Amino acid sequence: MTKKLCLQDLTLENKKALIRVDFNVPMEKGRITDDARLRASLPTIKYVLDHGGAAILMSHLGRPKGTRDPQLSLAPCAKRLAELLKRPVKMAPDAHGPEITKMAHQLRSGEVLLLENLRFHQGEEKPQEEPTFVSGLAELGDVYINDAFGSAHRAHASTTVIASFFQGKAAMGFLMQKEVSYLGATLLTPKPPFCAILGGAKISTKFKVIEALMQKADVLLIGGAMAYTFFKAENIPIGRSLVENDFLGVARELMDVSVQSRCRVLLPNDIVVARQISAEGEARIVKVEEGIPDGFEGVDIGPETIQRYGQEIRQAATLFWNGPLGVFECPPFDRGTNAIAQILADISSSAITIVGGGDSAAALEHVGLTHSMSHVSTGGGASLEYIEFGQLPGIEALSNRDDITNKGSLND
Ligand code: AMP
Repeated sequence: MTKKLCLQDLTLENKKALIRVDFNVPMEKGRITDDARLRASLPTIKYVLDHGGAAILMSHLGRPKGTRDPQLSLAPCAKRLAELLKRPVKMAPDAHGPEITKMAHQLRSGEVLLLENLRFHQGEEKPQEEPTFVSGLAELGDVYINDAFGSAHRAHASTTVIASFFQGKAAMGFLMQKEVSYLGATLLTPKPPFCAILGGAKISTKFKVIEALMQKADVLLIGGAMAYTFFKAENIPIGRSLVENDFLGVARELMDVSVQSRCRVLLPNDIVVARQISAEGEARIVKVEEGIPDGFEGVDIGPETIQRYGQEIRQAATLFWNGPLGVFECPPFDRGTNAIAQILADISSSAITIVGGGDSAAALEHVGLTHSMSHVSTGGGASLEYIEFGQLPGIEALSNRDDITNKGSLND
């Protein structure tokens, strides 16, 4: 059981619950193109309403950088949320200020208010530069609930600083609890054998998580463009493949550490290479030991690598996957990524399969395998930082269960 306070620990009757949700949804011309994040917030919101509380929701959307941008208004989210909840959702014209305080005070049990985009104010991302922002938000609610795992790695006003205004009353929502249970409890003490699969474009954004996983995993399978920096570091020709020349030393160090580590680190042994990233261009499969020919770039893992990685995955009891194995946005270079997703789905009834957000979540969705996994994280960057550090500022800031000696008195 987690040491942090949970939503179920709070007294909600006649209380205003200030809930940090993640409504950073994809939009095109003011229309929401995927409402998964809104749906994911429903269990927490409904629980608050069903237990006699009122919900005041707050989120960021995009990167308006402290200025008001009508294109990034959360108003479309209020409309869609009302449809999903089958009850009205009031849209606040701002995130704080006298008018918003009045709207919050007038809110009755069972009612929902959505604050305007938090990042219209500098104080959200730079809380120390505008301290009245966070205090203005805090005065709106009686209890605080954080359900925005995807933002929990940021020490922003609404994700971290605000919790200090709610001593003994700052709790995790259901979505956050699920993330903590899988990425925290399950991955920090994984059932062996533990196999981690890491892909994606850059070693620079993942080398710290590679180091952390080497401490915990039994085998680490590497794919994606990241692999070519490892190859170049070993003087294997990589043609025109994506590479981070500033990280050749880091790649060499990681391979040196892996020799002493009990974790086996595997790199692809065959690669799909193409003259250009396009379905029509010339493509072929090459063995890594032969090197990638001039004029070609690596775009996916090859069939032998899929086989070899598949064997490792099938033997594991716990699996973590982050990052596509190739340029999955451009078929047929999605074959490696899709094959790994399918193998994970095949074994997910007998193993714990955890996918760390971002592009791997998008790839799963694309092949319709999201629901075959034990857990697909809602946070890309947050899931990697959680594995790297074993904690996140947005979670640490919440109230400790141990500090609560008398639930009733603390919440009243
Ligand atoms: P990341 O954000 O680091 O997880 O990287 C995701 C991106 O890596 C996706 O857009 C993929 O298209 C890209 N990617 C994966 N493998 C390759 C590759 N072999 N060559 C170029 N880009 C790749």
